[in-house]
Amino acid sequence: MPQQVAPQGQGTGLFVNPAAARRAEFEAACGAQFAALALADSADAALAVLDGGSVDLLVIDLDRFDPELDHAGLTRLVRARAGAPTLILCPFANARWLPALMACGPIDYAIAPLDDEALRTAIKTRLAGAPTPPPVPTLRERELDALAALRARVRQALGEGEELEALAERLCRALAGWPGVLHAALFYLQPGGDLQLQAQAGERSLNLAKVLGRADRLLQSPLRQAFPGLLAAAGNTIALLDDLDKAGEPALAASLREHGAEMVLALPIPSNGPGAPRGSLCLLFRAARGFSRDELEALAELADLAAVGLRMADMNRESEEMLVRVTHLSTLDALTGVANRRHGETLLEQEIKRARRYKLPLALIAFDIDRFKNVNDRYGHPVGDMVLRAVADAAQHLVRASDVLVRAGGEEFQVIAPHTSAIDGLKVAEKLRTAIEATAMPGVDQVTISLGVAQLGEHESADSLTVRVNAALGRAKRAGRNCVELAMG
Ligand code: GH3
Ligand code: MG
Ligand code: MG
Repeated sequence: MPQQVAPQGQGTGLFVNPAAARRAEFEAACGAQFAALALADSADAALAVLDGGSVDLLVIDLDRFDPELDHAGLTRLVRARAGAPTLILCPFANARWLPALMACGPIDYAIAPLDDEALRTAIKTRLAGAPTPPPVPTLRERELDALAALRARVRQALGEGEELEALAERLCRALAGWPGVLHAALFYLQPGGDLQLQAQAGERSLNLAKVLGRADRLLQSPLRQAFPGLLAAAGNTIALLDDLDKAGEPALAASLREHGAEMVLALPIPSNGPGAPRGSLCLLFRAARGFSRDELEALAELADLAAVGLRMADMNRESEEMLVRVTHLSTLDALTGVANRRHGETLLEQEIKRARRYKLPLALIAFDIDRFKNVNDRYGHPVGDMVLRAVADAAQHLVRASDVLVRAGGEEFQVIAPHTSAIDGLKVAEKLRTAIEATAMPGVDQVTISLGVAQLGEHESADSLTVRVNAALGRAKRAGRNCVELAMG
């Protein structure tokens, strides 16, 4: 319920805040400045007072109001003022209110917390007949032009589909070029991760990672309730620290001042859907200044653009990863996971070139599962597939890391063995033969392989080498299987 206070000063005032203690504090600090001061505990109560008679200055103290619950009532209240002097006391950590209320009518604001003296000064200047809209920054044309140029630069940066790192850098460099801005930073909330300082630009001597004590896991930083860049990203709000002392962190204020910053503004970068924002844009200014509705809206639009950019950068990265995966997959045989025939051919050409350049021996081994048709016929194709996989696995474990196992087709494999002579190739082949013979194949009788071995000739092509090694493999089959044959020169 509205209550009347004894008249002393000049003009009529109306102060709105849901907390009785806040109302009492305001009355104690500023009551004497008014001829009459009404106190209201809600937007509706304040509207009732306005209905009852004219009020020279309406003071809306946003502390304790809930941006969700009280939004409708407060916007009604600002509309009802229709431009009559209205002062918003806005907590620095929750400046999201400002553009919303500015959209409902001309308002003036002061960033809280304010001490009694500062509060009295704020009231005094407004009661002394502040112009309407009040002396908050009239939009400077130069700055509006600069904002338009900034938007163009940001749009251009977006158009180039850059990677996240490069895009964030460009955004910060563009923002740091806005008049009055000393330094700009972008904080990024990794999907499913923590907040990190992604990029910063502007004042070279200023490193926000140092000021904040770290560059990542910033949601855990003790400064998350004080530094606007962190507040905006963590709380999905606009944070406007127009006086560094208001954050209540003297060390933070001192280190920012040391580099020439006096004011910090941060805007959340909206996310795709509901939930935490993607991060924040953070601007450090050389001097405190007010912001008009146009400016705050233009800055919020920049944050929207940044959101689009981050989303595109994410998508680019995902599609690149996908491409790498697909490219990788297209080189592998789907059943056994070893190199497929096509990739094997490419690798053989590469190894032949390398062997020639460094004058090193190269061996090619070909092997084929003996009487594999019988396995399929007796146990069925799925069991045949299992045997193929088991043979590939056993061979893969046996060969050196520099050797390449290839599924050349059906139940035929190759091993490309660099740095390997015919003699060494024969040893590898014999090792493979005994290992496969000794490998227990689930549900199947013993499996054996026949092998051919060939060493690359001085001027020999890949085709010729392949023909010779297959001929050797054929001789191994004719010699009774489960044996190794060396190719003729
Ligand atoms: P040899 O000792 O002369 O090599 O006799 P083989 O039966 O192994 O030779 P053949 O070429 O007559 O038969 C090869 C068999 O391999 C026939 C084919 O169905 C089977 N095969 C080829 N690819 C696959 C596969 O991917 N899975 C299964 N289960 N069988 C395959
Ligand atoms: Mg076979
Ligand atoms: Mg075969």
